[in-house]
Amino acid sequence: MSSTTTETGPDRSALPAAATSRAVIDLEAVAHNGRLLAQTAGVPWMAVVKADAYGHGLGPIALTALSAGASWLGVAQLAEALTLRALLDEAGVARPVEEPSGQAPRVLSWLLPVMDPARAACEDSPLRAALKADLDLSVSTLSQLEALAAAARAQATTARLHLKVDTGMSRGGAMAEDLPALAAALRRAVDEGAVDVVGLWSHLSRADEPTSGSTEEHLVRYRQAERIVCEAGLTPSIHHLAATGGLLWHPEARMDLVRAGIGLYGLSPDPSVTTGAELGLRPAMRLESELVQVKRIDVGQAVSYGGTWSAPTDRWVGLVPLGYSDGVPRAASSTGPVGIGGMMTAIVGRVCMDQVVIDLGPAQDETGSSLPAPAQVGDTTVLWGAPDALGQEAVPTVDEWAQACGTINYEIVTRLGARIPRCYVGAGAGGDYARP
Ligand SMILES: *Cc1c(COP(=O)(O)O)cnc(C)c1O
Repeated sequence: MSSTTTETGPDRSALPAAATSRAVIDLEAVAHNGRLLAQTAGVPWMAVVKADAYGHGLGPIALTALSAGASWLGVAQLAEALTLRALLDEAGVARPVEEPSGQAPRVLSWLLPVMDPARAACEDSPLRAALKADLDLSVSTLSQLEALAAAARAQATTARLHLKVDTGMSRGGAMAEDLPALAAALRRAVDEGAVDVVGLWSHLSRADEPTSGSTEEHLVRYRQAERIVCEAGLTPSIHHLAATGGLLWHPEARMDLVRAGIGLYGLSPDPSVTTGAELGLRPAMRLESELVQVKRIDVGQAVSYGGTWSAPTDRWVGLVPLGYSDGVPRAASSTGPVGIGGMMTAIVGRVCMDQVVIDLGPAQDETGSSLPAPAQVGDTTVLWGAPDALGQEAVPTVDEWAQACGTINYEIVTRLGARIPRCYVGAGAGGDYARP
């Protein structure tokens, strides 16, 4: 998505000289996290790369995950899946149809556009594009099945489907009462050769509450669905239920395949249960920017729109060229932590669209003599990243940002704006990116 990345990986030479901010993405950390999760799971794993790989960049993350052993890639929207297939083709990754040994990765997309069968069968329909792209697709309703079967007939192929059942989340998926009719229709479409039901799956709603009993209820409903599907004569061979939380905290939910998203990026699905560091995960994203202006303001001077923060003493403040259009939540006003050199400080006043002001400390000591500015124009500021092992650098974590903004780590990384260039470091990055 960013103009500074290519499909096959980094292209830091294309980093715009004019850019003042960057997200440094550590591909070695991603590979480490993938291998660690795979070891824990003990079953094949899907790298979930929806939403531009949670803001980290689709192509480089997908290829890194495959090199770390992922046998599946998962995205939500069909449009994302088509983009992903084009990236994989360009990178020379074999498609399942071209790889008789079964070693080629599969791509699953679980949100399809709504379409009537006549439209689905048209030469240019997105569902026919999905079939041409060798995607695995999810189905939850009869009308989805009708559209998919129509597309498959028109394309003279067999659609590979994963039947999604609702096991207690009440989001997507077939309800138990609708399942017999849907399963019977699937069976007819299988007999006709239009579809193949390769998977049965669902999603956990409270995997991060290991003692709530919720996952056990999901499992009961899953087994009921499995019986209905089996009675209809369907034989899905891939059963999957767990995302990162299920993988980590509910071994019984691992089944044949786990779908790992947040853990791959080095973050815990719920740091209040276990932190990423405790899990041995390494955060892959570091958001940094440069200080573009440093100034001294008088005691009582208000800062930014609305004057919601005023200097408690004569003060040094600095300007950082990142704002809510870049994904810095406006909720971080006067609270979002920022590291600069060895110093931890915070945003003061409101987050603007393109910029924030940070506190750099008092401009006078108790005796009234002037203090020099503790930071200079051009210094690197870090909004979030992996904590510095040597402790020499102040680096706020994504989890601290989530807490400061009343949200979750998923949202902090995923909302990172398209305007921020992604720079790749670590294995497969094609050269080290030198921090300024
Ligand atoms: C996003 C998503 C995942 C990945 O979840 P994480 O908690 O990030 O591991 C897995 N499955 C489905 C259906 C999802 O929507």
